[in-house]
Amino acid sequence: MKPPQFEYQRVLTIEDAIEALATNESTAILAGGQSLIPTLNFRLGMPDNLIDISRIPSLSQIELTETEITIGAMVRQRQVELHDDIKQANPILRETLAHVAHLVIRNRGTLVGSLAHADAAAELPAVLLACGGRVVVVGPNGERSIAADDFFRFHLTTDLKPNELITAASFPVLPPDAGWAFGEMARRRGDYAIAGVCVILRIDSSGNCTDANLGACGIASRPVRLLEAERILIGNRLEVDVIDAAGEAAREAVQAPDDNQASLAYRQQVLATLVRRNVARAAARAGAPHE
Ligand SMILES: Cc1cc2nc3c(=O)[nH]c(=O)nc-3n(C[C@H](O)[C@H](O)[C@H](O)COP(=O)(O)OP(=O)(O)OC[C@H]3O[C@@H](n4cnc5c(N)ncnc54)[C@H](O)[C@@H]3O)c2cc1C
Repeated sequence: MKPPQFEYQRVLTIEDAIEALATNESTAILAGGQSLIPTLNFRLGMPDNLIDISRIPSLSQIELTETEITIGAMVRQRQVELHDDIKQANPILRETLAHVAHLVIRNRGTLVGSLAHADAAAELPAVLLACGGRVVVVGPNGERSIAADDFFRFHLTTDLKPNELITAASFPVLPPDAGWAFGEMARRRGDYAIAGVCVILRIDSSGNCTDANLGACGIASRPVRLLEAERILIGNRLEVDVIDAAGEAAREAVQAPDDNQASLAYRQQVLATLVRRNVARAAARAGAPHE
């Protein structure tokens, strides 16, 4: 199918983008176009105006400090995947991006576009959630920062207002002793996940888990933290029985109804397995160099 008719506007500054959003009621930001254009083609959205932000130079920047990685809204997914300093600072991004779509799509698609699109089965929103990251947003009233916990509201729905633009997403640098792992189950490589899980944890010198953040995708109407599984892991040695208990507890978080990909029972089984497998992988990596 072809998209409905729309006006196209290319802006060169953030200020012009904000003005264009304020001027036109029915608008959509065009970043990499890898989700927006299919959405238009299927008539799932019919904005009158597309605002192309790809030529705003400041949105293509990546900034690394000792504590935070800030990824501009026009940084392509593939750039993040190949960035060696990002891999050192927070290796979960590279591991996760290998599961996102296909290489040609990651060449065009932006990391921020995936967060803005907020597909409940998309991998990157679950990672932002597990990492405790945030998005930076600019609107007519200036800039605000939205924590991942508050950003994702529902499938394809975020806290972003129609007159706001996301300028960047920030992920914390993982401490050197952190363990991390991302895993998912999809019907074919490159598909959205039936279920996926991002695990970040820390283990102290006596072998106890001191911190555990688990974010999951594909199991509810938005990405979710697996809080009960986290509670079971924290304060315990990550022996098989504890990891199994965390996997079992995660089943309760599945809220997605039966669909053409999986039944509720199957998704619960997949999630429990993913939690067990990836907590064990993360625990094995805790304290190891970010290879
Ligand atoms: C065949 C195929 C398979 C795919 N498989 C997967 C997959 O397995 N996992 C996955 O996560 N994704 C998948 N994707 C989606 C892909 O990751 C997209 O590139 C990404 O979701 C959107 O990024 P984009 O830059 O292309 O955004 P666009 O398509 O340009 O925009 C997406 C949405 O976000 C809004 N938006 C974008 N940037 C901003 C901004 N800075 N501020 C405010 N709003 C903004 C747009 O208005 C639009 O509503 C797939 C896509 C295709 C075509």
